[in-house]
Amino acid sequence: MIYLDNQATTPLAPEAREAMLRHMDNGEGTGFGNPHSPHRMGRQAKAAVEAARDKIAALLPAGGRVILTGNASEAINLAMRGAQTDGRIAVSAIEHAAVMDTAEALGRRHILSVGADGICAPDQDIPSDIGIIAVMQVNNEIGVIQPNAQWLKTARDNGALLLTDAVQSYGKITVKPADMIAISAHKLYGPKGIGALWVRDGIELDPQITGGLQEGPRSGTLSPALVAGFGAAAELAGQRMEEDAAHMESLWSAAHELFADWTLNGSETARWKGNLNIRKDGVDVARLMSDCRDVMFSAGSACASGSGKTSHVLKAIGLTDTQAKSSIRLGFGRYTTMDDIERAAASIQTATKDQA
Ligand code: PLP
Repeated sequence: MIYLDNQATTPLAPEAREAMLRHMDNGEGTGFGNPHSPHRMGRQAKAAVEAARDKIAALLPAGGRVILTGNASEAINLAMRGAQTDGRIAVSAIEHAAVMDTAEALGRRHILSVGADGICAPDQDIPSDIGIIAVMQVNNEIGVIQPNAQWLKTARDNGALLLTDAVQSYGKITVKPADMIAISAHKLYGPKGIGALWVRDGIELDPQITGGLQEGPRSGTLSPALVAGFGAAAELAGQRMEEDAAHMESLWSAAHELFADWTLNGSETARWKGNLNIRKDGVDVARLMSDCRDVMFSAGSACASGSGKTSHVLKAIGLTDTQAKSSIRLGFGRYTTMDDIERAAASIQTATKDQA
């Protein structure tokens, strides 16, 4: 099997796995402590959590705190529901469902337009009642990188908080300063079931999960193993950031060439090269996916594909329903090889020709 769906999730790094195992079982029968207990076993577990928290924070801006959550969707909900503002929430038209649907569920959503290249321009009109602006850093479907530094300025000029969904960028490129930043371990070779919300100092959030308030506005006992896995993955990502990016660049260039007869969706330059989203007129993607069963790729975001709904991201950049439905997303990762790319391209291109 060839795995080309690294935007949906990434394999667990061996280093993260090892850190997790160490904190599940320390070999002495005392590794299971509750990090919120005051006794020695609890303190040991807490030390592991705090060491990992520091590693997670090291890839985020200075001047803020890391609130650990169950995943990024929870972090985004905490940010939007917990921020002390009644203002409307301006979201780019290509945000992930966790942002889109939460703003809508709160009845406070305002959509910011994006161009054909997938960029959400920070000089557009912001209505005066906006309390939060949410513009992601790297889009999960088309890989486009947003001008987040300018968005922070726009947010400041309009008296709004900036929430960045950095799920696809954290650990891969430098995360730009914001007021709140949502991240998830399973997109950077860490475990599923752990994420975080970074909050700038001075911003208070109303609790969204009440109880022991272990993480301030987020209650619940933390899992030291998951947190340690997240920390190890973050540390490794920090050490390998340039190497990983160079690897993505070479895989992307090769794949772009192998699919030269397809059209790229989204900007070619303002882009995380772990993502190649392409389309070809007349391709039946559902059939393609079933013909290429050994290649794990996607027809859109993991949440949207399978629903039969046209991707809101591809529609937002101006694609017709037909064009969107003839688009595929190939997602490369640290462990993807050139051989994977060549074999996957051969399989997809052969299946495509058979459709003609
Ligand atoms: N935001 C983006 C851009 C994502 O790609 C995802 C995951 O698909 C999420 C948010 C949600 O992350 P999680 O699975 O940790 O809830």
